[in-house]
This record gives sequence, structure tokens and C-alpha cells, in this order.
Amino acid sequence: MKVGIIYSNKLKNYDFGLGHPFRGDRFESFMSYFNTTLSKSGKFEVFLNEEPASDKDLELWHTKDYIKAMQTASAEGVSNLLRYMSGDNVNPTTRQFPEGVEPAARVIVKNSMLACELVQEGKYEKAVSIGGGLHHAKPSYGEGFCVYNDVVVSVKHALRKYALERILILDTDAHAGNGTCQAFYSDPKVLFVDIHQKYIYPGTGYEDEVGEGKGKGYTVNVPLPPYASDEAYKFVFNELIFPLVEEFNPQLVIRNGGSDPHPSDEITQLGLTLDGFRYIGKSVREIAKICDGKEVDLMCSGYKPQVLSRAWSALISGLAGVDIGLEEPFPLRTEKTQMLGEVKNVVKKVKRSLKPYWGRF
Ligand SMILES: [Zn+2]
Repeated sequence: MKVGIIYSNKLKNYDFGLGHPFRGDRFESFMSYFNTTLSKSGKFEVFLNEEPASDKDLELWHTKDYIKAMQTASAEGVSNLLRYMSGDNVNPTTRQFPEGVEPAARVIVKNSMLACELVQEGKYEKAVSIGGGLHHAKPSYGEGFCVYNDVVVSVKHALRKYALERILILDTDAHAGNGTCQAFYSDPKVLFVDIHQKYIYPGTGYEDEVGEGKGKGYTVNVPLPPYASDEAYKFVFNELIFPLVEEFNPQLVIRNGGSDPHPSDEITQLGLTLDGFRYIGKSVREIAKICDGKEVDLMCSGYKPQVLSRAWSALISGLAGVDIGLEEPFPLRTEKTQMLGEVKNVVKKVKRSLKPYWGRF
């Protein structure tokens, strides 16, 4: 079965303007790279969608008031803009919310919902929603370049439409997925596992944040030290994620996160190489065997243009089991990082927090 690449020509409008780290050209530049590398394997099919998510779809997580404010801000501007979003979500020059972003954000949500449907209904074994993974958006507040949270909306949609009881969300973006975490904090149907860098934006996601009420034990935060490197990710998968996922037994796997853990990404310092990205893809492929390979991948982050397409492709190559040559665009620091000891301490703390809820620990 093929792997679907869910794409839209409208994604380029998700652009915060000159001088902002998140520009709309990332999507087309990924597709050009994809067409000369992964696509040649014959393993993929590009699925084009131009349809936006409806208000009803967005209301699975966002408030009516917020949706209306985003539409108005986009079309004609609103005077109290920063009541609805942080300064990250505006054009750095005009200080306004760019016109094209709201409609493009709706298409991104629809792409991620479609990715879930196409996998769940057996059209593709796996589907990659290009532009997906806007994990910082809250019900009535946009931040961290995220307007609508497609991770939350598409998971809530899949839970409801297919009466699912166990979905795994694995967030491998360098930043903690604070919006997604909030959405499922008391929901035992969703196991949310988040690997991110400690002490950077948004400043959440510590080892003892494990969920509340019926959802206790179903939120797992792994805050890594800077320069953690590929070895850290391997340790975390082997010690935590593989055993946990086996016990949870998901019916569908969702992974989100783009290229921002790479060493040359200027706003984070996790030190994950292209080989490390491929390792994550391969590991997710392995995990998804529990549910007949069904997996949805959401991909949008990354702030170093030369790395972005390569890291996204490395993830997809591991995920789809397709080999492509991976060449780092810049020389990597060769000295060994000394962080594994600290990573082991983090994992020990996480296991201690999870012990009451999982037999494996
Ligand atoms: Zn990020």
C-alpha cells in the first residue's frame, strides 16, 4: 500500500512575512526536494486538497469567539489583536495578522483530518499531512506560529468518527506541544508522549506532568537537555517509548514535528542529525506495526531552510522504509556530547512519575 502525501497549493499562504522565521515557501521547496528524491521510489502518492476545515470542525477544540476573531483579524483587522494571539503570530513589520494565514490554517486542519480518514479507511497505510503539527494553538489563543491546532482537531475527529479508544500522539518537535497537552490532559483515550528541549519556549512539559483525573499516566513528557544528540533519542525510544506503546496498544499512531531538533536550527539546540531523524521515522514505523501500520505524520516546523526539506525527507524515508542518500548540508560538530548521563536521569524521573500507572515501569 502507498504512503499518501497530503498537500495543498494554498499552504504557501501560511506565511507571517519578511523577517519572520515561519515563511510560506517551505512547502513548495519541500515538494521540489521530494520530487527528486523520495518520489522516485514509487512508494508515494500525492493527494491534493484545497478544501478548508469548517467552523464545526474547528469547534472540536476552538471557541466560536476565537474562530470569529481570527476571520475578522484576517479580513479587516481587529483592534484588540493581542487578546487572541501572542506577538509570534503577527507580521514583524506591520504587526498585523497576515491576511492569508487564517484560510491556510483551515486547509492545514482539513489536511490532517483527511490524513486520519485516508489511513483509517484503508486508502493509505500511512499519510503525511504537509503543514500539520500546529501544536501550540489553544482553544481561544494562538501562539508559537500556530493558529488552529490541527493535531487536536484531527485526533478528536478520528476518535469520534471511528469510535476509537486508543490513539497515540508522539510529538517529536523540539518545543513542548502545550496546546495538544492541554487538550488531552484528562483523556485516557489519548496517550500523549512529548520529547522536547527543556527550558525553552513554551516552558511547559516537565517529567512530573503526567495528566489528571482519568487521564493520569496518559501524558508523558521527556524534557531533554541541550545537545542531547541522536544517542539520547535512541535511549528514550528503547527505555520509555517502545515499552509504553506496547502496553498501551494504540489503534492509530500520530506523530508530529519537523526539522527543528537539527543542530543547525537556530532557535533550538537538540543536536539531532539527519540520521537521527531517519531513526525516528524507522521507530515510528516499528511502533505502528501494533496497529497494522496505520500512522499519520504531521510536518511543518523547522527554521533553517537548507535543512528543512532534508530532515522532513529523512523522517519520511524511515517511516516509509525507503532509502535515500542523506547528506548534511553543513559540517557537523564532531566532538562527542556529554549529555547521555543527564538524559538517563531525565528518563529515570519520567519512569518514576509513570510507575503508578504502567506495569512496565
Ligand atoms: Zn518547534
